[in-house]
Amino acid sequence: MRLIIALAVGICFAAIILALTIYFYLERSWLPKESTRQFFRLSPLPLAKKLEGYFYAVRPDLYLKPATWPWFMKCLVRNESPDYYHGKVVTVEEAGKIVKLNQPLIRTDLEKLVPYPVARDIILNNPLPSLAVMECPCRAQKENSCPRDVCLVVGEPFVTLVLEHSPQKARKIGVDEALQILAAEEERGHIHTVWFKDAMHNRFYTICNCCTCCCLGMASYFRGVPRIAHSGYRPLIDREICVGCSGCTNICPFSAVEMDNKKAVVNYERCMGCGVCVSHCPVDAIKLLAAPDRGVPLDSVLPPAGGQFGP
Ligand code: SF4
Ligand code: SF4
Repeated sequence: MRLIIALAVGICFAAIILALTIYFYLERSWLPKESTRQFFRLSPLPLAKKLEGYFYAVRPDLYLKPATWPWFMKCLVRNESPDYYHGKVVTVEEAGKIVKLNQPLIRTDLEKLVPYPVARDIILNNPLPSLAVMECPCRAQKENSCPRDVCLVVGEPFVTLVLEHSPQKARKIGVDEALQILAAEEERGHIHTVWFKDAMHNRFYTICNCCTCCCLGMASYFRGVPRIAHSGYRPLIDREICVGCSGCTNICPFSAVEMDNKKAVVNYERCMGCGVCVSHCPVDAIKLLAAPDRGVPLDSVLPPAGGQFGP
């Protein structure tokens, strides 16, 4: 009996030491930072979810590490649900409008936009949302990755949380730099996605720029987990204008364009409506049209905007 009691006390003691060590490692102060308190007060999520979201926000590289282990990936494929952690493909124009928002945007009715049962709110309380660029936690897992400073954290309290806890990996940026990052990633042929997560209080919190070589969300999608929702647009190629250069075929991240008689043809089953082919066509032969059968574009909930990516 004494042995059992001693064992239980030892386990409790070890658990407390471990929890305190993790706490000081993440917070680096005796009292929780103000952004930590704001994050935990944000919504009535269960405590375990808040702890998960907190760890995910402040150390996404560690949070996502297991997704690179082959045996863990196999388990994920069998058990992974896209319902709690998912993204939506957006065009570079839509991503640009989000970073340029000049009025609050509060939408909690986005069932058609992101067709998952939870995590589909957009709550940006301030005009001109706070913006930070953060090292991409997916690209950070690879030695020779694509450029890493590309993840745009959007809105509070997420921006302050990331900045206060990972000052070496994140920095505050303005609208112009955010637009430059989006344009550079578009030029590289990478798609833009807005991400929602249950542990992030069921909200939108980041615009990712995703490549097929590093992005773990894309890897998950290609393994068959429908984690990414269609943009709601589809490209239409004008065969009269197409000069058969194969630019769109080579750049499409979803391998959705093929050449047929020296003209490009889209496989709409594979196409996710990212619009990357449009910006890479040298003769403007491709237009994006609404594809109501594939979902509602993010544009439908955004106010009109002007400027570099606006109408
Ligand atoms: S064909 Fe579809 S998925 Fe491929 S680049 Fe064009 S819009 Fe994106
Ligand atoms: S990039 Fe434009 S011109 Fe080149 S194959 Fe595609 S549609 Fe045709």
